[in-house]
Amino acid sequence: MDTILGIVLIVLLVSGAIASGLAESKHRNALAWLALGLLGGPFWVVVLLFLGPARVACSACRKKVDAGASICPYCRTERAGG
Ligand SMILES: [Zn+2]
Repeated sequence: MDTILGIVLIVLLVSGAIASGLAESKHRNALAWLALGLLGGPFWVVVLLFLGPARVACSACRKKVDAGASICPYCRTERAGG
């Protein structure tokens, strides 16, 4: 039974690592997704795959823009902080 436990642990660890890496690339909370991946395994990796990049409202025109964008694609306002 130790083998199964080991496999489960490895799957959870790998899921956590993949989830945090994916979250990072989508400008989402990597730590939160690491925890989700460690607890829920591959399920959360699949959920994250279907989620787009995090979107935030532009401070100038209020349109939703990619959280990683440094300049708003609509009004060209520079986004402070990132
Ligand atoms: Zn804007």
